[in-house]
Amino acid sequence: MNFPLASLVAPPRFSAFRTPDDAQTLAGDDVDKFAMRKRASGANFRPGGGVRRAAAAALVALALGLSAPRARAADAASRWGDEAADLLAELIRIDTTNPPGGETAAASALARRLAAAGIQAEVIESSPGRGSLFARLPGSGHGRPVVLLSHLDVVPADPHGWHVPPFAGVRRGGYVWGRGAIDCKGVAAVETTALLALARSGQPLGRDLVLLATADEETGGAAGAGWLTRHRPDLVAGAEYLLNEGDDIHLLPGNRRVVQVAIAEKAPCWVRITATGEPGHGAVPPPQTAVTRLVRALDKLLRYRTPVRLTPAVEAYFAALAPLEAEPLRSRLLHLRAALDDPGFLTEITRNPRQNALLRDTITPTVLRGGAKTNVIPAEASADLDCRLLPGEAPDAFVGQLAEVIGDDAVHLETLLSFPASSSDPDSGLVAAVRELARSELHGAPVVPSVIPGFTDSHYFRDLGIASYGFVPFVLSDEDERTVHGADERVSIDNLREGVRRLLVLLRAIPTSS
Ligand SMILES: [Zn+2]
Repeated sequence: MNFPLASLVAPPRFSAFRTPDDAQTLAGDDVDKFAMRKRASGANFRPGGGVRRAAAAALVALALGLSAPRARAADAASRWGDEAADLLAELIRIDTTNPPGGETAAASALARRLAAAGIQAEVIESSPGRGSLFARLPGSGHGRPVVLLSHLDVVPADPHGWHVPPFAGVRRGGYVWGRGAIDCKGVAAVETTALLALARSGQPLGRDLVLLATADEETGGAAGAGWLTRHRPDLVAGAEYLLNEGDDIHLLPGNRRVVQVAIAEKAPCWVRITATGEPGHGAVPPPQTAVTRLVRALDKLLRYRTPVRLTPAVEAYFAALAPLEAEPLRSRLLHLRAALDDPGFLTEITRNPRQNALLRDTITPTVLRGGAKTNVIPAEASADLDCRLLPGEAPDAFVGQLAEVIGDDAVHLETLLSFPASSSDPDSGLVAAVRELARSELHGAPVVPSVIPGFTDSHYFRDLGIASYGFVPFVLSDEDERTVHGADERVSIDNLREGVRRLLVLLRAIPTSS
């Protein structure tokens, strides 16, 4: 995952219109954090395991579409949580920090489990050590395949600040702990366990199920999904839908749940601006140097406000969240286009960085380069900008606009990375299946097609014409989501077991295409 997962959980943030200052106050409150942590782990020691297991078995039978005589199989399936937890712990113990990645070992671990169950699996390397897993479970009918996508690389983890070693795969207090537990090895474990469960059930889907657990997502996917879609598009040929990370079931205060399915992503447009000038001695500076030019250019960019632009997907997203809010906010979200004409409301809604990022293109300076010695004026100074564009924005026009804002011929702009923003149909059969899942398994929780400010590997597959969606079947609180790319990343075994069950319900609910 290439962006903060806690994205876009609008309801609680809207209500309070929490600002970055508030967020800092919260993060700085160690006492509060400690209390939350204690609550989180204490919640897992629950009595009545036998009753819960029987109930789980019954639900599992439903998920598999089994009749009563198959209750024994259902009981076995109630152990999905343990099976997924074992697999996840094994994956976490294989350190796939990217760079360098080294995902082949993790892909091979998955391939072994699948092969043992008679499922055709293959580890495909883009270069030595950079392996991705591919598996296919044949369906019984003629429906087009569905792809389950995850990634096997993780971001680095500094053990300092963790309560357990981040690569030990510790199982404690009802959770599996470790880097990748949520992003994204937990997803790989759930998707693999679902495939194994389907294979054992003897009741395959009507369509082929393709499992892909790729390398290199965290640095953009060039050695993973990018390589596979370019060199092995046959693996996903004809696929109708793809499920990936990106969004999930958000747990809100008051135990409310919102099912968010990411249907669109902003596009990265990474730009390097380089200023040049006469090199020389720092003691006798000319009026302009490469460094002063760069500083001036950055200052102009910081003062520049990109225009607010409400895209149809974002408009629909906020409208879908509106019923969760009280008046007058409800009406404003429902009629956001008109509400944004009110300067006071516009200021308020864009004060939240995530909401701001959904309403305009953003420009974030991240890397600075200049001289190497205090008394030497360098000939060149540069900055990298992480710009993110809304769907419909043309990258060339955007970079041209930046050049105009800078207005200095001695400053050169170069695009480092850019691809179009991607989206999928919010009214597809897959979204209908998520709605059915919410109705039957999540007490009718609202389903919100969402737009995410970051990007995942989904765009590679959307480019192949596969309708791709960001939906992980975990129920996650803000606190859970903060552990992604942070300390103490962990996922509950309840979430792993229920994740498998929800995924199977969802897959069976996808209508067969014509
Ligand atoms: Zn991820």
